[in-house]
Amino acid sequence: MIQQTLVLIKPDGLKKSLTGNILTRLSETKLEIAAAKIVHVSRELAEEHYCHMKEKPFFKELIKYILGELHKRRKVMAMVYHGEGAIRKLREIAGATNPEEADPISIRGAYGRITTSGIYENVIHASTNEAEAEREIKLWFEPDEIIYHLYPVEEVTVKNVKKKVWKK
Ligand code: GDP
Repeated sequence: MIQQTLVLIKPDGLKKSLTGNILTRLSETKLEIAAAKIVHVSRELAEEHYCHMKEKPFFKELIKYILGELHKRRKVMAMVYHGEGAIRKLREIAGATNPEEADPISIRGAYGRITTSGIYENVIHASTNEAEAEREIKLWFEPDEIIYHLYPVEEVTVKNVKKKVWKK
């Protein structure tokens, strides 16, 4: 089944200069990158992305982590991977949530760690299932930022919206 999935290289991955290594590992899946950008993550986006974790005792730390506050690097690389079995392939190569239990050959197993204060720094996010992938892709990307037509869109005319354009 052709699928798409949201992949994030988390702030520890960027801080540790692992982007190239991670992208190389991800290319083993033979999937296609349908969208990519570096995002300055807002608190709103972070809390919405992890809305299903709200009740967890580590929620506050998790938000700090994805905001980049633990690594003094407030950015995340967000991508959409597209192709046959994308969700399973990405989850497999990402490895288990707990980096110490993850297969050492997986990305989390190779590059992740649990800090002394108990935070799972697992360098990468990959959507769990199709419903989560759709929710997350729509949260992180606008339709025009993705090279494929993945989900239904509608055209709206927005008036009086301020936006930045390149100075002439
Ligand atoms: P994922 O889909 O494999 O990322 O796992 P979850 O959706 O269950 O968790 C989201 C994120 O919360 C994980 O990637 C970790 O960064 C963090 N996390 C999950 N479980 C734990 C835990 O037991 N302790 C800590 N400190 N962080 C966790």
